[in-house]
Amino acid sequence: MVYDVVVIGAGAAGLMCAAQAGYAGRRVLIIDHANKAGKKILMSGGGRCNFTNLGTTPQHFYSENPYFCISALKRYRPEHFVELVDRHGVEYVEKAPGQLFCATSAKEIVRVLWTECEWAGVEVKLNTQITKVVRQGEGMRLSTSIGVIDAGVVVVASGGLSIPTMGATGFGYELARQFGLEVLPTRAGLVPFTLSDFWKDRSAKLSGVSLPVAVSCAGRRFVEPMLFTHRGLSGPSMLQISSVWQPGSPIEIDLLANENAADSLREARKITPKRQLSTWLGERFPKRFAQALLEWYPDSNQLKPLAQYSNDELDQWAGRLNQWQLKPAGTEGWRTAEVTMGGVNTDAISSKTFEVKDLPQLRFIGEVLDVTGELGGYNFQWAWASGVACGQAC
Ligand code: FAD
Repeated sequence: MVYDVVVIGAGAAGLMCAAQAGYAGRRVLIIDHANKAGKKILMSGGGRCNFTNLGTTPQHFYSENPYFCISALKRYRPEHFVELVDRHGVEYVEKAPGQLFCATSAKEIVRVLWTECEWAGVEVKLNTQITKVVRQGEGMRLSTSIGVIDAGVVVVASGGLSIPTMGATGFGYELARQFGLEVLPTRAGLVPFTLSDFWKDRSAKLSGVSLPVAVSCAGRRFVEPMLFTHRGLSGPSMLQISSVWQPGSPIEIDLLANENAADSLREARKITPKRQLSTWLGERFPKRFAQALLEWYPDSNQLKPLAQYSNDELDQWAGRLNQWQLKPAGTEGWRTAEVTMGGVNTDAISSKTFEVKDLPQLRFIGEVLDVTGELGGYNFQWAWASGVACGQAC
């Protein structure tokens, strides 16, 4: 079997790249070891796929080289993908500012990509294992479970390590190392935190409670909801901060992101001196959480009116509310992480064509590279943009 382009991985980036290369007149094959294309797309965004973010900028991505993603993101913008889904009649909704989700199902996005590949004449082989990839003259040779395949160009779109049950493997990293490329250390990103026994029990009791918070760590701050779970903390704010968190370090949670609790408590003491702290907390938090706070910190006679609280006592409460310092025990890891931080070092990759600089018949796109987006549709936008840039250059 001989192809101009063989794409490894029928995920977001691979399908997009294959269609572009097919439209450019190339003979294209996609190989995937899974039994279905686009499995992660199907489970993304709670089954509705947050397929892009209209506010995408390079600042929404983590990478050792923050400039690498600029060129592809500039050339293929969120509006381009919106134009594509419009053309295929996909209905969508803007759930949060800039975040576009399918109105019905993520299946719609796979249908779009699958149809594009069909129109572009792309062949797809699922349930296919790749055992070896070597240089063969000017091209590449793959040994697979369906036989030997020769390719002018091999595009590695095998994704990251998150959710192994969905087909994630370290294949792309191993291949990169085989060809002498550096793979930057990988770790789970956009992943819920686990807590130590003490806080885990407290969190478990509040499981299902969601609060709007601001969370900070390593110089980053995200103002988004937080969710208590049986294992620890999740919700958009925690997923976001998990991408910059390092094991052993604390995170700081501001439970009243838009309010200076010290000022508000002093003001309340002045204006409503007979009011109790529990009433003040109850006006700001869901009942279960307000009660939990009083149980967590049983240090003062909580039946006393605010008038009897000293400045120090109010400041102590303000610190608990505006600067709750918490040391996560860890994260839920690859089992539930949405993305992989780190990956193939972009230094050796062209940001225009995605080819390996001294081996142009080998290319890497999508999440396997050391480019990871924040939560909110940025990761798919990266998959589309890198896929298009590479596909057109093939
Ligand atoms: P993938 O989509 O992971 O595709 C890689 C493909 O390679 C897979 O089909 C896999 O089977 C195949 N493969 C792997 N190893 C081999 C091998 N050895 N041989 C052959 N094939 C192989 N991002 C967003 O922007 N918005 C969201 O709403 C969103 N929600 C998410 C929800 C969840 C639960 C998860 C896990 C991720 C979510 N993401 C979301 C992230 C997004 O899914 C990924 O960033 C994106 O899919 C990466 O695209 P990719 O093509 O690089 O890799």
